[in-house]
Amino acid sequence: MRQNTEEYRGVFTFAQQVDGKLSGISLELIGKGKDLAADLNTEVTAVLLGSDIKGLAQELAEYGADRVIVVDDPKLKEYRTEPYTQALAAVINEFKPEIFIIGATAIGRDLGPRVSARVGTGLTADCTQLDIGDYPLVAIAGREQKHNQLLMTRPAFGGNTIATIACPENRPQMATVRPGVMQKKERVAGAKAEIVDFDAKLEENNKYVEILEIVKNTKTTEDIMAAKILVSGGRGVGSAENFKILKDLADALHGTVSCSRAVVDAGWMSKDLQVGQTGKTVRPHLYFAIGISGAIQHLAGMEESDIIIAINKDENAPIFSVADYGIVGDLNKIVPALTEKIKAELA
Ligand code: FAD
Repeated sequence: MRQNTEEYRGVFTFAQQVDGKLSGISLELIGKGKDLAADLNTEVTAVLLGSDIKGLAQELAEYGADRVIVVDDPKLKEYRTEPYTQALAAVINEFKPEIFIIGATAIGRDLGPRVSARVGTGLTADCTQLDIGDYPLVAIAGREQKHNQLLMTRPAFGGNTIATIACPENRPQMATVRPGVMQKKERVAGAKAEIVDFDAKLEENNKYVEILEIVKNTKTTEDIMAAKILVSGGRGVGSAENFKILKDLADALHGTVSCSRAVVDAGWMSKDLQVGQTGKTVRPHLYFAIGISGAIQHLAGMEESDIIIAINKDENAPIFSVADYGIVGDLNKIVPALTEKIKAELA
């Protein structure tokens, strides 16, 4: 069915919460939503789903939401695909947003495509950039060029190219966005938003799953996305045991150890610590790339770091092309020496 796209207005963001706590991506999406809304001369609406979560609306307002739509229902207590999909689809059908952005978290990657299919629109997954612009990007004779479209950019073909995708015929224009890529706005204490309670009229059906037990992962892993200093190791480190020299450097700098995918594939470190296209996007003040070649899929997750220091025995390693400082040599000699020097300086 052809939609009247003119009916759709406003930038909507999914305010993901887990156990009654907003996920960082929820605030990042509002930050990006504000920029998009300014270009479109419209407002940002955060959509908050859960049970007993209304109190979180104030935090969303303080990070820039103009309006918060709250669907508060016991069926939404824990994340489950079907009730969350029903709720979000109902919000879209009722409020008709022009743009809907969702975090590319485990929840968002499950929820986004299902909602888009249910409301009959497209979705661009795992975006790293969002802009408002013309589509097609340049005027082509005989083809209508539409203005004020959401241009959704993401790596494609294993990171070998960057694709910009638009959704000119259907609304909302939907995208999932990688955590850590967009910036949240400064919090404004006491800022107010319009709060709208919405009854999504959830209906239990045979797609509802029953949660029998929730087993939390008790392994404590570092949050590499929040770290200001990352000491990241690659295959060149040689073994899980040899990561000790990176840990010593990280401890001396009050930093955190992270790694490349080769290290995760070798079973030396857990997936939570992987930086890159299929790992996490990080933006620390200081990023050490030690024994990491600098494959494009790795660079996609760390090149926005403020300062990058690479240590590699191969002077032609691609990592040096993004590094601010490079040290060519054997990491087994350089890293312990650097750690000792830093300890002495900071003592
Ligand atoms: P290598 O490429 O093997 O590099 C090891 C480096 O260590 C070399 O440069 C070598 O010169 C150096 N070295 C060796 N010994 C020493 C020494 N003693 N001292 C100093 N230097 C030394 N990769 C990621 O990291 N993150 C991702 O999210 C990711 N996603 C991917 C998604 C797809 C779809 C695909 C196809 C690939 C992905 N990859 C990802 C894999 C990526 O292409 C590379 O294979 C990977 O990043 C290589 O890891 P590495 O740099 O640790 O290992």
